Amino acid sequence: MVETNNPRLLQNHIDGRWITPTAADFLDVQNPSDGRVLASVPLSCQADVDQAVAAARGAFRAWSRTPVAERCGPVRKLAELLRENFEDLARQITEEMGKSLPDARAEMKRAIENVDVACGMPTLMQGENITNCASDIDGEVLRLPIGVFGMIAPFNFPAMVPFWFLPYAVASGNTFVLKCSEQVPLTMQAHFRLIEKCGFPPGVVNLVNGDKVASQSLVEHPDVDGISFVGSSPVARQIAEACARTGKRCQALGSAKNYLVVMPDAKLDRVVQNMLTSCLGCAGQRCMAASAIACVGDETYQQVCEQFTAAAKSTSVGNPLDARFEHDDLAVGPVISNDAKRRIENLIQVGVDEGATLLLDGRGTEIPGCDGGHYIGPTVLANVQSGSTLERTEIFGPVVIILKFDSLDEAIAAINQHEYGNGASIYTQSGYWARRFKTETLAGMIGINVGIPAPVAYLPFGGMRGSIFADIKGQSKEVVRFFTESKIVTERYWPEDDLGPRA
Ligand code: NAD
Repeated sequence: MVETNNPRLLQNHIDGRWITPTAADFLDVQNPSDGRVLASVPLSCQADVDQAVAAARGAFRAWSRTPVAERCGPVRKLAELLRENFEDLARQITEEMGKSLPDARAEMKRAIENVDVACGMPTLMQGENITNCASDIDGEVLRLPIGVFGMIAPFNFPAMVPFWFLPYAVASGNTFVLKCSEQVPLTMQAHFRLIEKCGFPPGVVNLVNGDKVASQSLVEHPDVDGISFVGSSPVARQIAEACARTGKRCQALGSAKNYLVVMPDAKLDRVVQNMLTSCLGCAGQRCMAASAIACVGDETYQQVCEQFTAAAKSTSVGNPLDARFEHDDLAVGPVISNDAKRRIENLIQVGVDEGATLLLDGRGTEIPGCDGGHYIGPTVLANVQSGSTLERTEIFGPVVIILKFDSLDEAIAAINQHEYGNGASIYTQSGYWARRFKTETLAGMIGINVGIPAPVAYLPFGGMRGSIFADIKGQSKEVVRFFTESKIVTERYWPEDDLGPRA
C-alpha cells in the first residue's frame, strides 16, 4: 500500500449538515488500481446511527404531508445536478472502485434513469378504487408513506445501487438513511454534496459511513421501519432474519452465479464478444456478470473454448484511469482489494486441484507503475464439473468457467440446482429453445442473446431463490410497493333522509 501522511477524513451527512462521527475506528480507502490511499473513512457506531435515524424520524411527519408533486421538486433537481456533474461522478467511481470509465458512465446513466423514474411518483403511488363493490359501498386502496427507511449498499456499484431505492423512498414521502460501502465511500460523499443543493428539508436524506457495526445498528434500530440491502447472500440472509425479528419491512438482494447457455445454433461471431463483456467487464465484479458458460454439444464446447479463450487473451488489462483505456469498455481493471485478489487466486488453484483445465491464467498479472494495484488478468477454466467448488462459488473476479452439457434440459437443470438464481442468458436463434429457457430457468432476470440482462429502471431488478430474501425487488413502480403501505378503505354514506329533511 502506498502511504500518504494526511488522508482526507470523511464525514456523515445528517440533518442537512456534514458531521464528524463519534467513531473510534477508521479505515483507509484505497484506489484499487495503484494502492494509493484516497481517504480515511470513519466506522460509525451506534450513536452516529441513532443521530441519523433521529433526524430522519424528525423530518418524516412534515415531509410525508408535503404534496407528492412538491416532493418531486428536489428529486428533479437531483437528476439535473447528476447530469451536470456526470463525468466527475463517473471518474470518482472509477478512482475508488476500479471499473473502466465506460462502465462507470453506464453506472451513472442507470442511477440517473432511476431518479427520472422516481419523478413520476404522482402517478407511481396512485391507489385504486372500486365504486359500488357492495350495495352503496365503495372500496379504495390508499398508498401511504411509512416512515424511516435504511439502505445498506455493496462496493461494486457505489452510485447505481443506492439509487435503486433512495429516489423512490423519498419521493413517496419517507425519510432515508443510507449506509454506503466502507470500501467505496467517496462516490456518495460527492453525491451528497449535490443532494444538499436540491432543496430537501434537513433530515429527509442522510448518509452514514461505516461497516457492519453501522449496518447492524440500522437494522436493529426500533425507529427504522424498513431496510433495503444489497450485498452477499450470507449477509442478506442475516439482515432478512434480523428484520423479521424486529418487525421491519425488508428487501435483501444477494449473491449470484450467472450462467450463459450457448446452443449449437448460436451466432458465435457475435456471441463471443457479447460473452466477453458480460464475463470480464468490471473485472467480473457485477452482480449480473456471467461467470459460467454452459455449452450444449461437443462442437459448441470446442469452439467456445477456443474462440472465447483467444478473445479473452487479447483483452487489455490496466489502470482504468490510464488515457489509453478511456473509451475501452472491455479493459479489465483491478479487483477491489488485496483480500479479494488473494481469495480469487486461491479459488483458481482450487479449480485446478479439482481437475479443471486452465486455458488462460491471469494470476501474477502486474501493471507497470501500479505496484500497489490488485490485478488479475482474464482467467478461463474448462472441463469444470457441475457441483465442483468453482461451479458452486460466486468468484466475483475476471474468472470464467466453461461446462459442457448434452442438451438444453441438462443445462437448465444445472442452473436450477444452483443455490443462486440471479440472472441467466441463452444464446440461440430458436424461439422454441428461448421460450423454454425463459419459462423453465429459475433465475430472476433472463437474457435472450443478451449477456447482461440487467433491467432498465422502468422494470424491477432482482433475482430468485438464494439471490434474494424478499418478495419485492428494486427499482421501478415495483419498489414503490415496498416504500408505501396499502390502506384499504371501505365506505358507505346513508341517505340524508335518515338524518332529517334535506336543506
Ligand atoms: P457484502 O455483503 O460484503 O457487504 C455489503 C454491505 O453490507 C456493506 O455495506 C457492508 O458494510 C455490509 N456488511 C458486511 N457484513 C455485514 C454484516 N455481517 N452485517 C451487516 N452488514 C454487513 O458485499 P460486497 O462485497 O460489498 O458486495 C459484493 C456482493 O454483493 C456480491 O455477492 C454481489 O453478487 C452482491 N451484489 C448483488 C446485487 C444484486 O442485485 N443481487 C447487486 C450488487 C452486488
